[in-house]
Amino acid sequence: MSATKSGQMKALRKMQAGPGLSFENVPWPSVGPTDALVRVTAASICGTDLHIYGWDRWSQGRIKPPVTLGHEFSGVVESVGEEVTAVKPGVLVSAEMHLNCGHCHQCRLGEAHICQNLRIIGIDRDGAFAEFVKIPASNIWKLDPAIPEHYGAILDPLGNAVHTVLAGAIAGQTVLVTGCGPIGLMAIAVAKACGSSTVFATETNAERRSMAKTMGADVVIDPAAENAVTRILADTGGTGVDVLLEMSGNPSAIQLGFKALRAGGRASLLGIPTESVPLDLVNDVIFKGATVQGIYGRRMYETWVQMTALLKAGRLNLDPLFGERSSLEKFESAFTLLRGGLAGKILLYPNGVPR
Ligand code: NAD
Ligand code: ZN
Repeated sequence: MSATKSGQMKALRKMQAGPGLSFENVPWPSVGPTDALVRVTAASICGTDLHIYGWDRWSQGRIKPPVTLGHEFSGVVESVGEEVTAVKPGVLVSAEMHLNCGHCHQCRLGEAHICQNLRIIGIDRDGAFAEFVKIPASNIWKLDPAIPEHYGAILDPLGNAVHTVLAGAIAGQTVLVTGCGPIGLMAIAVAKACGSSTVFATETNAERRSMAKTMGADVVIDPAAENAVTRILADTGGTGVDVLLEMSGNPSAIQLGFKALRAGGRASLLGIPTESVPLDLVNDVIFKGATVQGIYGRRMYETWVQMTALLKAGRLNLDPLFGERSSLEKFESAFTLLRGGLAGKILLYPNGVPR
């Protein structure tokens, strides 16, 4: 099918430097020879979208309006460019929205997720909060029919969780997840599915603590009400946890996590702090012989293969994470709910909410 289609579509866009988003009429994306045009069936709002909506310091430095947001989505391929053979119209897909250059040092080493020239669809160029989105065919991920369709829209954050959990040994390990936002909650489920033993979780928000229980955490701690380090050390015979999965970006949660980590343990840091975080490197990293890893994005495409395998095997029940569903047009109420601390994922439907 030809990729040259034209017409107008609805899109949720950042139109100028400042807070807010607007629902606009824009032309369909023009599709090049190696692209796929995807009709978006469901999209999901990420914390990053909230930052861009609010126009924080990071957004001011990164976002060049006008741009259509949205990097978590699923959809059906509408058409493909003339050089595309691996992707066919009519197929249900999601996509890796990080675009790597293919020729920098890391790309050549097979570490495309930390490419020097990384661009993100929905941040640096028009994304999936629209009726159609243009994706390079090489970034398309076909959805296995065994995977529930609505899960397709949250594979991007699930991939962050899978990447973090599987960045080291996990079976039989004790684990601490600090921060139970959507990605922390997914990490709890993934760690359990991969055979971890006791999973501890810390979270300051009561609703999210109760979600952490639902997702399978064994011990859920409010760090504002209880000394979490004392509790974790007591429950692990004074040793500490084997694995820290840091999912909050909060400095005190990061520091707590390192205190609760056993000597020789692994700290995998995904949460993004907005400031420098002081760490007791001597006692919490060096003398502990700890392994500390920064985690960014999803490994391309190892994480996608692992995630698909876990989902196909029916190992991950993510249904508790899904809450409200909304047409794209009613985005304001969805953004308000998420800003209020709702833990779940809200699905937005640019082509109409299914019955
Ligand atoms: P989120 O903001 O919804 O979740 C963070 C959670 O941490 C919240 O539930 C919050 O209440 C909790 N929290 C805050 N202070 C805490 C404390 N002291 N102790 C325990 N919990 C505390 O974010 P999310 O969408 O789940 O993402 C998690 C983190 O990962 C964010 O920092 C996000 O920016 C980051 N992130 C990183 C990548 C990457 O590639 N490295 C990708 C996506 C998101
Ligand atoms: Zn590169």
